[in-house]
Amino acid sequence: MAESKRDYYEVLGVSRDADDATLKKAYRQVAKKYHPDMNPGDAEAEKKFKEASEAYAVLSDADKRRQYDQFGHAAFEGGAGGGGFGGFDFSGADFSDIFGDIFGDLFGGGRRGRANQGPMKGMNIRKSVRITFEEAVFGCEKELDMILKDPCTKCQGSGARPGTSPETCSKCGGKGQVVYTQQSFFGMVQNVQTCPDCNGTGKIIREKCPDCGGTGYTSNRKKIAVTIPAGIDNGQSVRIREKGEPGVNGGPRGDLLVEVVVSRHPIFQRQDMHIFSTVPISFAQAALGADIRVKTVDGEVIYTVKPGTRTDTKVRLKGKGVPSLRNSSVRGDHYVTLVIQTPEHLSHEAKEALRRFDELSGNTLQAAGSGAGSETKSGKKKKGFMDKVKEAFDD
Ligand SMILES: [Zn+2]
Ligand SMILES: [Zn+2]
Repeated sequence: MAESKRDYYEVLGVSRDADDATLKKAYRQVAKKYHPDMNPGDAEAEKKFKEASEAYAVLSDADKRRQYDQFGHAAFEGGAGGGGFGGFDFSGADFSDIFGDIFGDLFGGGRRGRANQGPMKGMNIRKSVRITFEEAVFGCEKELDMILKDPCTKCQGSGARPGTSPETCSKCGGKGQVVYTQQSFFGMVQNVQTCPDCNGTGKIIREKCPDCGGTGYTSNRKKIAVTIPAGIDNGQSVRIREKGEPGVNGGPRGDLLVEVVVSRHPIFQRQDMHIFSTVPISFAQAALGADIRVKTVDGEVIYTVKPGTRTDTKVRLKGKGVPSLRNSSVRGDHYVTLVIQTPEHLSHEAKEALRRFDELSGNTLQAAGSGAGSETKSGKKKKGFMDKVKEAFDD
């Protein structure tokens, strides 16, 4: 391996007595020419780039350069026979200094710091609003009380005391990020971190604006009108454009996402565009038929119960459901379950009438014994009991 390696001075094209400035200049030229970013997919260029980087890493370090001058490549060949980088152990080299320095201005800083330099949209804000069942069905207007950040008017968002201006952060050169480049067996590994000195802003404020305390933003209480569309369901959100956090570098504000939380309704339940409810009817209404009032989201409607209606009969009220979010003229249906109520607190006369009814209808409720139906406990949803009633009428 050692035999095939080119001389480090030759790689960089400098004489053996080249000083640090000359080395750096030479490396910059070679690195720029062969940098993988400039030669995407070119394996030969990548090899040359690595070769130059290795040469520079060694020659720019006084100790390593002395060893190299004395022993050549053999100075860095470990017993393991080396890895993909010709046996040179790069873990000892301080690459953050070398490459940070060189690449910092090599690419004009724009490439890696781009995320922090151009206009960026602000963050979205999420908020929830509680609405009633009916408000979800028909839509509503809500007003949210919010505290929103605005660019500070005193400092125009710079965060610096008027008359002063923020300084460019010297640690990151205003990029807001620091790039640590390390050599691994797999090539160059770059770690990008938010600059610890300026917290990614790229600027250091010496004298803070008194109004915003250097943040560049002031918090203001705002009332924001939200139009909740008809048909919205629990957990869905309304997006209000550009009512989120302010943008960065002239970018647009983020959005406000308002999630609706729909309160439970005492009578209605909802599934997608359909509404469900249960309506109690009396035994007599079920047996004889009757006009009953049924509550819907549009108000009460009259529904005609057919004679001989059984309990748990489902009735569809077409178009009394929830409007479609896309087209509010399209509505779901309202399904009503008719549940026959068993009378519990009967007057003496009512009991007599019921006994007479039982006799007239053939005294078929034998299981109830002498107490007839009146002693039966709340039979609202007990199918067993109702089945018996049905049997009685099926005869
Ligand atoms: Zn300010
Ligand atoms: Zn910085």
